[in-house]
This record gives sequence, C-alpha cells and structure tokens, in this order.
Amino acid sequence: MADLYEMLGVAREASADEIKKAYRKIARELHPDINPDPAVQDKFKEVTAAYEVLSDTQKRQQYDMGGQGFGGGQGFGGFSDIMDAFFGGGGNRGPRARMRQGQDALIRVQVTLAEACFGTDRELTIENAVVCPTCTGSGCAKGTSPSMCQVCKGRGETQQIQKSFLGQVMTSRACGTCSGFGSVIQEPCRECDGEGRVRARQNIPVKIPAGVETGNRMQLAGRGEVGAGGGPAGDLYVEIVEEEHEFLVRDGDTLHMEVEITFAAASLGTKISVETLDGQSEIAIKAGTQTGSTIALKGHGMTRLRSSSRGDLIVHIVVMTPTKLSREQEKMLNEFAKSRGEAAGGSTTKGKNQSFLGKFRDSFGR
Ligand SMILES: [Zn+2]
Ligand SMILES: [Zn+2]
Repeated sequence: MADLYEMLGVAREASADEIKKAYRKIARELHPDINPDPAVQDKFKEVTAAYEVLSDTQKRQQYDMGGQGFGGGQGFGGFSDIMDAFFGGGGNRGPRARMRQGQDALIRVQVTLAEACFGTDRELTIENAVVCPTCTGSGCAKGTSPSMCQVCKGRGETQQIQKSFLGQVMTSRACGTCSGFGSVIQEPCRECDGEGRVRARQNIPVKIPAGVETGNRMQLAGRGEVGAGGGPAGDLYVEIVEEEHEFLVRDGDTLHMEVEITFAAASLGTKISVETLDGQSEIAIKAGTQTGSTIALKGHGMTRLRSSSRGDLIVHIVVMTPTKLSREQEKMLNEFAKSRGEAAGGSTTKGKNQSFLGKFRDSFGR
C-alpha cells in the first residue's frame, strides 16, 4: 500500500478535519453508487482503507510510528465490509503499513581532552540506511505502484469459517500472499529490491558541546536508520570517547597534573611556568614547598557541561632529590645538614604525603 497520506492527497500534518474533507471529496467521485466500474471500486476501497486509519487518532498514531500493531491478524468478527468503515463501523483491523519506523544507530567519536573541554565541530561519516533515491521509498519500479492483493482484497488478512458444534466460528490471520500489507509489489524497484531503502555513506555535522566526557551520548533525532518502506528514520546516538592526555588527569571537572621541581627551588621558592589547556600559566612556588603539596589554578579545569563555568587545575608538586652530586655539592649538603643538627636518617611521613602518593600512584604510573 502506498503512503496513506498520499492516497488521500493530504499533508502528514493534516488536521482531522482536512482528512475528512479530502476523503469526502474523493468518496463523492469514486463511490460505487456513482461509479460502479470495478477498477474505480478497487481504488475506492484503497482510499477508504486509508481513511479508516487516518481518521482514527489511535490508528493514525500507530501508522505514523511505523505501523506496529497493524493487522495483527487477531480478532473475531463478521466480515467487515469496507463500507462499514465508511459508515463508521469496522473493528481494529486492516492491512499493515509497509512503512516501518527505522532503527536507532550508535557511533562512537574520539575527542581530545581539549576538545572535551572547549567543545568542537565534527563531521562524522557513517554508513546507514537512507530512503532509496530511485523509488523514494515506495519499493516499486519507476512508474508502477503496488496493486491490491487479490487474495485478501486489500484487507491484509484472510478469514476462515470453521464449523463447530457451537456454530460457525470466524478466525482471521495475516494474508500469506501479501504478508499482511494488503497490496503486492509486482515490479520491485531494482535499486532497493522493494525495500524502499538502501545503505549509503553520509556525512553528518555534529556539534560536540563543551564539557562532555566518556560515555556521554548525544541524540540526533531522525539521523538514524530509515525504516523499511522508506519509513521514518530512527535517531543517531553519538557516544563520546575521551582520549587520554599526555600529562593531565581528569576527575569530573577537576584536572590534575604533576610538576617536578628541584630541591633548591622547593627550598628557596621560585616561579615556574606550567602548560595548561589554556596555554602557559605561571605559578609561584613558596619557599619550603614539600612533595605532595598542591597549588590550585582556579578555572583552568574542565568546562562544566551546559555551563560556561570551569573547574580547577590542581598542580601536585614533586620535589626531586638529586641523584648525582659532585664532591663539592656533597660537601655543601653535609654542612647544610650539620648546620640544622640533622643526621642521616628520616622520619615517617604522615597524612597528606601518603594519601597523595596512594591516590596518584596509579594515575601517574609511579
Ligand atoms: Zn527503490
Ligand atoms: Zn493479501
């Protein structure tokens, strides 16, 4: 069956009133009482079946969703003449739509930490189902259209009368000849084999917002797979995968980095320049800085999603102990130790230092 809206000559967003008017107009021309020609009557039945669906809010919704729930082949009842539909009768049956809602699709996209922080524009190349350009979804060869199924007369179901001691029982089931569609494509479109859709490569521009992180999904409505019969496309989900940064470690909207300073710099204090996502940033190292102490660079962390505010960058200081000393340096350090009354040895580190090492050992591979 062709698109029901097309059969009535109305837009997809037509109001119930517009649909009724359109149908009345066609019915006046095609009604069997006026025009008994069998070909015209077939057409009349098709249009009436289309009206039956589109005039019923619930059925129309089902059809718009892709036709699930149509012509399930259940239900008992008398032969509902097509005229029943015209006069408001008829049950919840009818041919099922060829058009089906398309599937959702998922694509993963890798972003750098900077892209995750500031957002970026990407063009994704994906291969998915699109409406067949040759038949625009009808599945029919050029110049042809589906013809009414001769077995079920367009009902999409066949009915059997079974005699039992209770009397006659009527059962319906989906028509095997037309698979319940009520119509048969005699000459399928060669490009899509009657599917109404083909696979094609598409370039889709995507705006990745600032503040995303691994696992975040963006939903692009209607950019998924087109359904059978050229049915409405599902959604495309773009899942973020954040690449590991060379030296920045992310924890929500906070970033961490480790900076090594010399023993002398830690003792005397200095200014150093560190590389952040925003470029070089100068930080002051206070005299007497210990390994494990931290300096927060406000607003140099990650952007918070759906906000312009940013977290902090925490710089973890590691004081480097010299491994090779010249004789001269060794002598100076010995004198330095003596002057402070220190001997070889040390004391157990507590609290802060230990937790820092524990927390970042894994992150920094130490
Ligand atoms: Zn086609
Ligand atoms: Zn049939």
